[in-house]
This record gives sequence, C-alpha cells and structure tokens, in this order.
Amino acid sequence: MIIFGCCVPTARVRYDQVAGPAIDKIAVPDDLILVEDGSEGIAIAYNRIIDRARLEPECQALVLLHDDLEIVDSNFRAKLLGSLRETDVGLVGVIGGARLSSLAWWEARDRFGAAFESRGLIEFGRGYHDVDAVDGMMLAIAPVAFTNFVFDSARFPAFHGYDIDYCFQVRSAGLRVRVVPLSLVHRTKTGLGDRKAFLDANQLLTEKWGGNYIQSLKLPERLRRRFQKKLSTGVRRARRGRELVRKATAYRSSAMNSGIATPVDRTTRQPDGAPRVCVACGSPFQSTPPPSNSGRILTCLTCGTGHTWPLPTRQVEGDGLWMESYGNSRLRMRDQWYREARQRLEWVQLYQPEGDLLELGCGTGEFLDVAQQNGFDSYGIEPSHWAAQEAQKLHPNVLQGSLEDWLEQFKGLRPDVIALWHVLEHVPDPLTLLQQLRIIIAPTGVLAIEVPNYASSEARRLGEQWGSAQLADHVHHYTPKGLGSILLSAGFVVDALIPFSGRVYGSTGSWRRQRNTALLQGWQWPSLDLLRVVARVADDPGNGGAGLPQ
Ligand SMILES: [Zn+2]
Repeated sequence: MIIFGCCVPTARVRYDQVAGPAIDKIAVPDDLILVEDGSEGIAIAYNRIIDRARLEPECQALVLLHDDLEIVDSNFRAKLLGSLRETDVGLVGVIGGARLSSLAWWEARDRFGAAFESRGLIEFGRGYHDVDAVDGMMLAIAPVAFTNFVFDSARFPAFHGYDIDYCFQVRSAGLRVRVVPLSLVHRTKTGLGDRKAFLDANQLLTEKWGGNYIQSLKLPERLRRRFQKKLSTGVRRARRGRELVRKATAYRSSAMNSGIATPVDRTTRQPDGAPRVCVACGSPFQSTPPPSNSGRILTCLTCGTGHTWPLPTRQVEGDGLWMESYGNSRLRMRDQWYREARQRLEWVQLYQPEGDLLELGCGTGEFLDVAQQNGFDSYGIEPSHWAAQEAQKLHPNVLQGSLEDWLEQFKGLRPDVIALWHVLEHVPDPLTLLQQLRIIIAPTGVLAIEVPNYASSEARRLGEQWGSAQLADHVHHYTPKGLGSILLSAGFVVDALIPFSGRVYGSTGSWRRQRNTALLQGWQWPSLDLLRVVARVADDPGNGGAGLPQ
C-alpha cells in the first residue's frame, strides 16, 4: 500500500488540475490519498499526514508531493517500491545532491537525477544514486523513516528547508537517501520566490546541522536507540525469508555429504510405478510401498514434499482441467484473476521492473495482459487449447503448446522474468523443467513461482482433504524446504521464499468468515497456504547444480 500526501492552498485548483489526476491514474484501491490544507505551512500539513500514515501498518511508502507535480511514469509503483526494498533506504526522491554546502542543493558538489520543469528539462544524470538530500517536489519516505521522524515545523514551517532538513534527519540515523529515475513533470513557477525567506532558512539549517552539514550529523541518543530497535525489527523480517533458504541449502549440503542424497534420477519408480525418491530433495523413500501418511499423498520424511499416488489421471495438456474444474466460472470471474495478476506483477516488479516476460501455463491470459501494460513484453505458453484461445483474444503472443514449441518459435529470446503461477504442482518432472528454464532465462533474470504450501497448518490438519491438495490435478505438494532444494538442484539460487496467506487474493467478507470459523474451532490462524519464490541463476553452475543427475 502506498499513501500519497499533498499539501494544498485553500483554493486547490493546482492539485485538481495537476497532481490529483496523475495520482488517481496510478493509485490502486488499497492506496490512500491524503490532501491536507496548507494554511499553517507545509511542514505542519505534512506532519498531519505522517500522523495518519503511522496508523497504517500495511503502508510500504509515504509519497509526499507538491500539488504542481505530475507523475507520468506508468511504472512508478514498481520502481518506487523496488528502490525502497533495501531496508537501509529511508527516503527516495527524483533530483538531489551529495556534499551540500548550503540549502541550495543544486549548487552541491555532486548532483544527480532529472526532472522536467516548465522551463525545460533539468538533468544531472540518470540512474540510481545515493545522495544527502533530495528536492522536496517529491519525497517518498520508507516506514522506517516516517515512523521515526517528523518535519521540523518550528524551524522550517514554510517552503524552504523543510525537505533538506528531513533528509538530513534520515541520513543522520545512518539510513540512505536515494535519487531514482522516475518520470515527473514539475509545472512550477520558476525561481526561488522569496529571497529573504530562503536566506533565513539557510541560516537556520546551518545553525542546526553545523557548517559541514552531513559530516557532523548526529541524532540525540534517545532517538537513536529507539530507531535502531525499529530498524532491526524490519531487518529481521526481511531475513526470515533468507533463513528458510539457508536451511534448505544447509540441509541439501549435509544430505549430499552424508550420502543420503546421491544424485539419482528423480523420476525413477517402484515396480508398481510409485515414486522411488523424493522429486524435490532426492531422498529415497524409506519403504516399499512408500509411507502413506496422508491418504493418497506420500510425504517425503526429509523435506515434507507430498507426492500424489496413484498419479492424477488428468493431463494438463487437455482441456479437462479448464472445462471440468474451472468451467464456465473461469471467464465470469475474470475480475478476480485480474486482481490476482496485479498483485503478482507488483511483487515480481520488486525484483525485476521491466523486460521480456514468459509465463508458463498462462491460462486465460490475465497476467500477461497486466504485465504487458506495465513495462513488460510478455509471452505465454498454454497447453490447453480452450484456455490458449481465450488468452489469445487478450494478447497476441500466446502459444498453444509446450516449452519446446515456444523455444523453436522464439529462438534466442532469453526472458528477464519467467513466471509459473500454480503450475509447478501440475508438472510430473519438475526438475527437468526447472533445468530447462535455468538454460533459457536471461543471466540476470528472475524466476517467479507460486504454489500451494503443503507445510501450512491447514494442509497439515487436513491432509488430502486440504482445499489445495486437488488430487485430480496436483502431482506434487511443495514445502519451503522442498522447493528450495529442487531449485538449488536445478542451478538456481533462491532470493526470497515466502509462505503467505491467501488474504491478498480473497475478499474481505470471505476472509472474515474463514477467520471466524478458524478462531471458533481453535485452528491456527491464518494458515499460510501459499508459497512464493523468487530465484536467480546461480553464479557458479557447478555449485548450484551439485545435485543434478549426470
Ligand atoms: Zn524430499
């Protein structure tokens, strides 16, 4: 969720003509737009907005912008959230400087960024740069900063100094301030306005921070301690995902060393056709027939991955899945699929904002459509004729067929993103598929996967009765440990591995009903029923591919 905040004069004509319509275009329903009266000065108005933002635990960024600033970047959201992803970035702007010697940041030693002003393009260099302060035309503030700092309304109530001072507060806590290439048009009056007010503010800034500014930035001890605590909470949360990955890696190497997981063909079968080894981690099943602790799901004792046995009879290549399982409701519920697609794209763009995107199993094409509209050239592969035809109506680059067919047609195209939304659990030989993807993905590309989480509390409680078990179609049931393991075997390194609840996709009403039932029954809530992974190509293929069958 992004909160947009704007301070306006009593007559808010400029906001209604410039900033407002642009915000309306890029905001999504969960965002919050706060327009505050600026008659007591911009600092007081912004502090009221900060007070409000602090009440929103879901807020990922607070964007404060002038009413004469028009955001024209259709990829604004992804670029912004991507640039605030690193936990030590406190604030982001579009134009600014490092090593300032006065309030006039544009006279600083190092200047970066670009903005279209009414008088023409101001450009100091594109790209992403660390600076000490950015211009207040737009300040995008991370939660770690706005929960700790407010604007100094006593010293800098009006138009000069409030922005530079706020940046200095953020920098003084050891956080980074960055310039990010966002396309904006600043429909401003030229010049500094009131010269005396500027000089007064400059004097106050020097008194507060000393002549050398950044070199002498210090925060009061009490604030620093409080701030460090909050920062470490944020960092801890970010590390939790990495911890899961580390565990999967550690397990994998210890299994390799102890000889448990010697490279074996993971498609190997018992005489009756039952799996002989775990498809995800390669561990042999302990007994024949394999332990059946959950009806038709055989669970690996090492990584917890479930294997449907006997195998599902329905093939993904046919239309059965679409006609029988999803039926007519597939197209009737298109709003829902679009909503899910937007959520997924927003997440993918934190890791890769634009480029060529390939979706395997694109279904009726909603995700491709959303990706195409938001910075990607998208391509889709769909085995079902019926679904592929529907997808082709939305999007021309949809191929009905297999990955091999697609490679034949688009030789040499190396996608920057390969996405598999609820596809891997349908694939009988996922390791081979992932190894193929490892070869065709761009060297810096990201692989994005979402599957049901068989390690969730609901799955553990319900076994094969679990809503996402779907034994007619799902061949495998993944856990964080298993998925981490198979990706490593295929030559990927896992960037993020996140169990999460379906809350992001469900309606408030249905979510409330499920929660109430769970609480009444004493079930663990919420159940983290889904699993998302972002992986990249391992630097050293020899290392990442250690578990490959030869
Ligand atoms: Zn396993």
